[in-house]
Parts: sequence; structure tokens; C-alpha cells
Amino acid sequence: MSDCLFCKIIAGQIPSKKVYEDDLVYAFEDIQPAAPTHVLIVPKRHFAGLKEATPEDAEIIGYMQLVAAKIGRERNIEDGYRTVFNVGPRSGQSVFHLHLHLLGGRDMAWPPG
Ligand code: 5GP
Ligand code: ZN
Repeated sequence: MSDCLFCKIIAGQIPSKKVYEDDLVYAFEDIQPAAPTHVLIVPKRHFAGLKEATPEDAEIIGYMQLVAAKIGRERNIEDGYRTVFNVGPRSGQSVFHLHLHLLGGRDMAWPPG
């Protein structure tokens, strides 16, 4: 999608701090980190969000979680991190290209706000 912020980041048209990349996903540091580790994991193929996902997207959605777990292991935050999909405007979703937040490196309150 030509007007999508995260598609532009994946294409390198907007700079980002890359954390991980492979054929399927791109992961980068959130510009406004809400925790010492705050990484966004996005599928390279554009789709809007979890509520737009179809059964064909099951594999990539699961794979994003595994990439988060790999980064969590590498960052040594396995004593407590959270992976989050914000879905819809009331959740705070502001970018409509599916992305998984990986947050950790501090105590994580429950329930989340
Ligand atoms: P959402 O609120 O849609 O779940 O998450 C969007 C996230 O993208 C926010 O945490 C926000 O800080 C991050 N973000 C927005 N614009 C940019 C940007 O240009 N670069 C980076 N690295 N992160 C961004
Ligand atoms: Zn996109």
C-alpha cells in the first residue's frame, strides 16, 4: 500500500532501527518506546489488522509471535514480556498495517490500561 507508514518503513523509504528481518517479517524499534524493549514486528505483506485477517493469515500471525519470542530471548527479557495486537481505535490502534508489539524490560502491570 503506497500510503501506508509501515509499508514505507519496510521499503526503507522511512528510516527505522532494524531489529530483525527475513522474507516474511520486519522488526524495528518503536519510535516512542513504552518500555525498555519496545519492538514492532510487522508482516512484509500489507494487511490492516487482526480483525481483517483470514484463515490464510494464520501462519504469519503465529510466526510473528515466534519472532517476538526469539527477540525476547536475545534481549534477555524472558522474566516477563508482553506481546500485544491493538485492534480498533478504542484499543489505541493508530497504524493500520498489522503489527505485534513486543514490550518488556520492566514490570508489566495487569490488567493493561
Ligand atoms: P498502534 O498504536 O497502532 O498499536 O501502534 C503503532 C506504533 O507505531 C506506536 O507505538 C507508535 O509509537 C509507532 N510508530 C508510529 N510511527 C512510527 C514511525 O514513524 N517509526 C517507528 N519506528 N514507530 C512508529
Ligand atoms: Zn502497509
